[in-house]
Formats: sequence, C-alpha cells, structure tokens
Amino acid sequence: MLRGPATVSLCLGVLVFCLAAAAQAPTYDLILRNGRVVDGGGSPWYKGDVAVRGDTIVNIAPSIAESASRVIEVGGQVIAPGFIDIHSHAREGIFDVPAAENYIRQGVATVIEGPDGSSPLPISEFLSRLDALPKTINIGTMVGQGSVREAVMGQTDRKPTADELAKMRVLVEQGMRDGAFGLSSGLFYVPGTFSSTDEVTELAKIAARFGGIYISHMRDEASRVVDSVNETIAIGEQGGLPTQLTHHKIIGVANWGKSVDTLRLVDEARKHGIDATIDQYPYTASSTSIGAALLPAWAQEGGREKVLERLRDTGVRADIKSEVVRSIQNERGGGDPKNVVLARCDWNESLARKNLAEVTRIRGMEPTLVNAAEAAMWIVEQGNCSAIFHAINEEDLRRILRHPATMIASDGGIPVFGKANPHPRSYGTFARVLAVYVRETNTITLEDAVRKMSSFPAQRLGLGDRGLLRPGMKADIAVFDPARVRDAATFENPHQYAEGFSTVIVNGKIVLDAGAMQPARPGRVLYHGR
Ligand SMILES: [Zn+2]
Repeated sequence: MLRGPATVSLCLGVLVFCLAAAAQAPTYDLILRNGRVVDGGGSPWYKGDVAVRGDTIVNIAPSIAESASRVIEVGGQVIAPGFIDIHSHAREGIFDVPAAENYIRQGVATVIEGPDGSSPLPISEFLSRLDALPKTINIGTMVGQGSVREAVMGQTDRKPTADELAKMRVLVEQGMRDGAFGLSSGLFYVPGTFSSTDEVTELAKIAARFGGIYISHMRDEASRVVDSVNETIAIGEQGGLPTQLTHHKIIGVANWGKSVDTLRLVDEARKHGIDATIDQYPYTASSTSIGAALLPAWAQEGGREKVLERLRDTGVRADIKSEVVRSIQNERGGGDPKNVVLARCDWNESLARKNLAEVTRIRGMEPTLVNAAEAAMWIVEQGNCSAIFHAINEEDLRRILRHPATMIASDGGIPVFGKANPHPRSYGTFARVLAVYVRETNTITLEDAVRKMSSFPAQRLGLGDRGLLRPGMKADIAVFDPARVRDAATFENPHQYAEGFSTVIVNGKIVLDAGAMQPARPGRVLYHGR
C-alpha cells in the first residue's frame, strides 16, 4: 500500500528527471515496419512489424505502436531471418575482407567453415583469431576429417594403424570440444580419398558423442554417385549421427538424371529413421582445382613433389593422361575442354578466364581431348589452377532443389573484390535461388526457399537461437524486395554483388542500411553447444 505513493513522491521529487527519462527511453532499439514476414519456418508470409532490443528480436505483431530509437519503413518488402551458409570457404577471405560484403548483400548473417574434410587444426587457435577479428558476419566451423588424417599420417594411401586411428579420434574429439559443429569429409580429395568407410565412421562416432553432424563432399559425384550416397548414408547410420550430402550434384553428361536415384536413397534412409539431408548451390558448374578434379587420386598421393615425379616418368605419365582424358570426357570436363574455365592461376594470372581448349591452343596444339589432357597436366606442373567445370544438368539441379530435405549453401567464400575469376556462387547463391528458382521459374515457393536458407540449416547445426523470426531469437534479419532481388554475378563477370537487399541486421546491429554497407562489425564466433 505504501509502495505507490512512495514511488509517486519520489518521482515528484525529481519530476523533471522522470519525464525526461520517459521521453528519452524508447521501448525498442529498432522497429522494421510494414513487412511481409517470412519467418523461416516455411509457413505463408504474414504482414507485420518486427521489433529488436539489443541483439534480440523482442516483438513481432501486425502493428507495433511503441517507440523505437530507429524505425525502418520496409514498405511491404520481405523480412526474413538472416541466412545461414552451412558450407563456406571463408577461412582466408574473412581476414582480408571482414565486412564480407558478398555475403551481406545476399542476406547471409552466418557462415560455417571447415568443409570438404578441410579445417584448420587446432580449431581453438583458428576460432580465437576469429574472435579477435572485428567482423560483420557470424562464423563457426566443422572439424575436417582430411585435415585430421593428414596431421596424423600425411598424404599416404594406406590404412591407419590402431595407434594412428586412436590419434585421429583424439583430434576429432578435441575439435568437437573446441566448438566444431561436426565432422566434415572430402572423400573425393587427397587425403580423404584414401580413407575407408569404416575409418570415417569411427571418427563420425566421436562427432556423434558431442551431438555433431557428419557432412560430406562425397567420394564420387559422377559415375559412382549412387555408391557415394549409399556410403554417406551408411556413415550416418553406423556413426549414429545426422548425415548430409553437401553441394549435391550429378557431374558428367553420362550421369545426368541420376538424381532420381540419389534422392530416392535419401527418402528411403529417412523412412528408416536415418537423418540424411542435402545441401546445394544453384549453378550448373562446379569449382575446384585442375589437379584435384582431373588427375586420378593415386597420382596425387604424397604431395606436390611426388606428383611432379610421376609426371616426369613417361610410363606413369601415359597412365595419368588416359585418366585425365576420361575425366574431361565423362566427368568434370563435361565432354569438351571448353567446359573447363580457369579461375585463378597464381603463377600466371593472365590465364584466368581462359578455357582448357584455349590453353591447349596457346600451347600450340589442337584442342582434342588428348591434347587438352596434356595441357591440364602442364597446368598442374606449373603450379596448378583453380577452375570452373560446366558439367551439371539443370533438371538434376531443380529436382534436388525441390526436395524437402535440401537446404541452400554456397560452397563459396569471401573473395577480394575484382581479384581472379571465382565461381559466381560466392556472390550470388542465395539471391539466385530467390530470383531464378522462386520468382522466375516457380521451382520452389518463397517461404520454402527462405526455410532452406535459415531454419533448416540452423536446426542442422543445433543453433537454437537463430534461423527463425520469433521473439527471443537473435536478431539476424534480412530485408529484400522479392520483385527485385537477383544475383548479378555471372561466370563471365563474377565480381558483382547481389541486388535487392535493403537492410541486413546481424546480432541486432544494422550492417546494410538502405542498400549501403555500414561500419558495424557485430559478427560473432559461434561454438557448437554453447
Ligand atoms: Zn566440396
């Protein structure tokens, strides 16, 4: 009973103060007004305002009447959760370009590093360097099976001893304790390709103990892609953890259409209680190095010096060459050396953008398959190049995209603007899905696309406080115009930012404001289970 009058008299005593405080303290830090809320869960959009206080979404309602320090009228644009890229190669780029403008301009608020079996070790050092870096986006990492194997047994093509396997287990456990979200593998690459299914499963079991996932660049995405999907599912089943086919695609004309079979395998696995999922980027070309893509694994064993030694041996070189011819004809080469376009050659930057047929001609030869193989081996000898391989079919791409267990991931990184000729996926992945596959071709709905970019990867990673627009969730938010959003980056001219995003918010801070990048660096390091 005494409380009310006491408060009143206290307030009367400092009346001016009380009034000033009331006038100066808005209820919220930020309100996004008049949006189409696509909340990330997949339900149809609804009209609403979204209010933020600190780093958290605190209110969503048809109309929020209270005041805010900043009100942004979004005029019917989509308000979505900031996107989450579960397969990113941002490891180096984030230190060069901590603004990560290529990601922010397509609404991405979080990236996950350590894909394809490759991660820094120990992870704790990498994460503390990232922690000290002022950065715009959130970042977390996987622990890489290939990196773990290489640390213990180099690039050798043999089974690990019991002792070596025990050492690998310890490294995976350390990675998980340091905050990795799971175990990634790149069984297509050296040295992951030298690992048996059982060896990988033993390490996956460690990630499982910590509640992590297994995510794999599979052993083969071309002629043996169906076997590879079976292997990925088996590792999930026997390892006792969720398993993911990363950047799922079908490479090589002879294999096109096999996504019917691979998706059926995923459906059957799920029917039997195996938690198998997929991620994908929306392009019909892949990107990796010439050496990794075209040379057989046995020729890559042991590191660069060993590779060069084999290429100097006439007999061995002939064996390698016939395998390279086969790769160009049936797999990554898409049947024609023109389909292989060099992206970045550190030893001769003028080769970027030239295709393998052109390089063959520069070398004084007609661009037959055999001569192109010779040119590819020459490239490897000179110092290797990254390249773009046009060998994926649009029908497979759409079939995989429509699958409910497919999420979107870029497989890109953070490029230095204007440098080299990267795959456009780094600049365009998320915008391209919204433009081409939602608006132009109606392959999936807007709500499903946003789900595949937000709540689905968040659930996969165990990020309980991101990926959905709900009160209490972290305020990672992307605002875009669904009629105007588009990817501008092309294979010919990749250094072009996506368009149509007006506002992007990371941990409650505005990093893109009316289409302009802001100096705020609110990005955080994300640790699994913390
Ligand atoms: Zn990969």
